[in-house]
Amino acid sequence: MRVAVAGAGLGGLCLAQGLRQAGIQAEVHERDPAITARFQGYRLVLNPVGFAALRGCLPPRWHPLLDAVVGDAYGERLVLDPRLNRIGELGPATTGIVVDRHVLRHLLLTGLTVHTGAALTSYDVLDDGSVRARFAESAPVTADLLVGADGVNSAVRAVLSPPTVPADTGVRFVIGRTPLTERFAGLSRAFGSKIAGDGVSLLLGAMRFRTPPKEAAERLAPEVTLPDVRDYVRWAMILPPGSPGVRDPREAALSMMAGWHPDLQALIEQGDPDNSALLSIRVVQPRERWASGPVTLLGDAIHATSPTGGNGANTALRDADLLRRCLVDVAEGRRSLRDAVGGYERQMFEYGAEAVQHSLAALPAFVPDSKPPRAEHDRQGRRGVAGR
Ligand SMILES: Cc1cc2nc3c(=O)[nH]c(=O)nc-3n(C[C@H](O)[C@H](O)[C@H](O)COP(=O)(O)OP(=O)(O)OC[C@H]3O[C@@H](n4cnc5c(N)ncnc54)[C@H](O)[C@@H]3O)c2cc1C
Repeated sequence: MRVAVAGAGLGGLCLAQGLRQAGIQAEVHERDPAITARFQGYRLVLNPVGFAALRGCLPPRWHPLLDAVVGDAYGERLVLDPRLNRIGELGPATTGIVVDRHVLRHLLLTGLTVHTGAALTSYDVLDDGSVRARFAESAPVTADLLVGADGVNSAVRAVLSPPTVPADTGVRFVIGRTPLTERFAGLSRAFGSKIAGDGVSLLLGAMRFRTPPKEAAERLAPEVTLPDVRDYVRWAMILPPGSPGVRDPREAALSMMAGWHPDLQALIEQGDPDNSALLSIRVVQPRERWASGPVTLLGDAIHATSPTGGNGANTALRDADLLRRCLVDVAEGRRSLRDAVGGYERQMFEYGAEAVQHSLAALPAFVPDSKPPRAEHDRQGRRGVAGR
């Protein structure tokens, strides 16, 4: 069985790793010219389901490395005023694992065949039941299964399920990160903090690696090369509706912070310019099932959530692990490919739709005047969550 995966995000890579462990041939085709081509390094909170799915797809010999490069999210989520006085709590956070997306992608890339600069444009289902994927600048590829893990603007989804289109919540936010120095250590002690200003909030979350990733890889799994990243504070500010166009995300945040505590202003000023971005929150709601066949979807391509739900990556990893298990059944002769893909899609549609609803229900806690998302039918020229 040959599997072609479009998209080297967390979901596509996790699936390809899982298939590699099972001896199933899988190649990944990524649109970006390089894995480090644009802002990718934000902190993710993984819940027990997402973390178990990730472990399930990784070879057991890398589990100690994974455990070494995550961080711990625990305890309270404070609400502070702009002068750093405690004014409330967001409610207890469940204990979770935090992980840097860029570090995790590097771990997941190890040992895989990934073709970069390979933007999928379309595909054809062939008479023998296989599928031929077409790319903008490279030769077509034939596979038994094509998995569209190509994010919120999925080119695979545009052919497989044209009525499923992203919906814009209208919410824009700036995000960045700043090295975690002693000065900033108190700003985000546990799970995260919310600084509640006048009509605007700043969300802070520390990424404290249990072990610096590069060192951990050298010691625990020398075949893996991880980036030399140190602890940081991730900050995000939801912009008020109708904010003027943003050129520099740090300037946009600072312009809302007149009179705020100097530590908060310094945090933004010292932000890493290469790891800050303006993002829009768009969702994809899985609605209409298609007839199962040699093409399927995974992750944000079929159920993109609002980051306020903290569940998009968790759900993409869950998809990867579920689809991996279904495909192992095929490789071991227990079921047909069509039956396995259908079984995956049935479950994924159900929990994927719930994940999107959960994330939208969490939006008003951060954006009190948020409106229901509006379906986009003009896909041209739009940028998705994280600029995808
Ligand atoms: C700021 C922020 C914070 C978040 N925090 C959390 C969190 O705490 N917990 C959580 O669970 N989730 C979180 N999420 C959501 C999470 O990041 C996403 O849901 C997850 O990364 C989706 O993974 P994916 O593999 O489906 O898609 P993506 O990560 O979007 O990957 C898709 C890949 O496909 C590539 N691609 C696109 N088009 C093509 C094409 N035509 N051909 C080939 N390749 C293509 C893209 O370049 C990209 O590499 C957060 C998101 C953001 C933006």
